[in-house]
Amino acid sequence: MGLAWLGIMLLLGCGACNGQGDATDAPTGTDPAPVEPEAPSAADFDADRAFNLLVAQCDFGPRVPGSLAHQECGDWLLAELAEHCDTAFPQPFTHRSTRAFPGQTFPMRNLIGIIEPAGGAKPDTREVVLLAHWDSRPFSDHDPDPTRRQEPVLGANDGASGVAVCLEIARALRLERPATRVIILLTDGEDFGISEPTLSEYFLGARHFVRNLSELDPKRGILLDMVGDKTLELGREHYSYGADPSLVERIWKKAADLGYEDVFGNTTYAVSDDHLPLIEAGIPTVDLIDWRPQVTRNYWHTTFDTPDKCSPDSLRAVGDVVLALLREGI
Ligand SMILES: [Zn+2]
Repeated sequence: MGLAWLGIMLLLGCGACNGQGDATDAPTGTDPAPVEPEAPSAADFDADRAFNLLVAQCDFGPRVPGSLAHQECGDWLLAELAEHCDTAFPQPFTHRSTRAFPGQTFPMRNLIGIIEPAGGAKPDTREVVLLAHWDSRPFSDHDPDPTRRQEPVLGANDGASGVAVCLEIARALRLERPATRVIILLTDGEDFGISEPTLSEYFLGARHFVRNLSELDPKRGILLDMVGDKTLELGREHYSYGADPSLVERIWKKAADLGYEDVFGNTTYAVSDDHLPLIEAGIPTVDLIDWRPQVTRNYWHTTFDTPDKCSPDSLRAVGDVVLALLREGI
């Protein structure tokens, strides 16, 4: 699925730095008022909660379409969306496999939550879709051990990380609302296909979404995929940049403003992912994906894609940036 590479990385723990004055040292006359440290707010992105959501998905086991874990985790994710969004609903579909499992039919469902802006939905405002895939891959075809390549991928980074950030952003947005309506879209069947030139069995949920928009009308999108690695570094993804260079640059600018320059790096690469069907449908969408060899060669699409590869700090960097942009409006 694409080409890419590189990076070194470092995560900044953010600490508020503040001068401490003597209690009797009250400002007088034209003295500047002391700057109070900003107290953490419940509306901030909670990285520990996000990480727990990543682990909770993995606790169901691999979320492979057709499995019990897929059914149960889907029910749980829908309940999470219902709790933290204004509206939540599934978008079910079936997929008849042609290459991965020829002739077999699989029940799949996208899971959708909607968060209205402050003051309620306004006509003619831009809707934004924030998406991540919740399925995990049926086979570990890159596993170093050939005898394990038919085992499913647990998908801590490849799947659960993006979903965890989406769910935590949903919770936070309800407490301090977005500038425009936000659609949280958890796609199914992103990673179902076998490696083949046409990618015909990938991005199944994203394809279904754009064919069935009904009353939804997203104008722009942000896709989160593989955003949990402990040494996270994101590059400017090629198709994303082609579709919406100004949004890519706004994301990188916001990351720099928030002190995450080392996470939002200077590499570039091209990756085929869930953003492609949206872009083709006229919804410019930016894919934030960590596509370095440290990830793709070490544990991507193997039985080693487990929560110990991920960290709360990495989820925080992505969550802080995307949450801030959704509140400002993109
Ligand atoms: Zn994958």
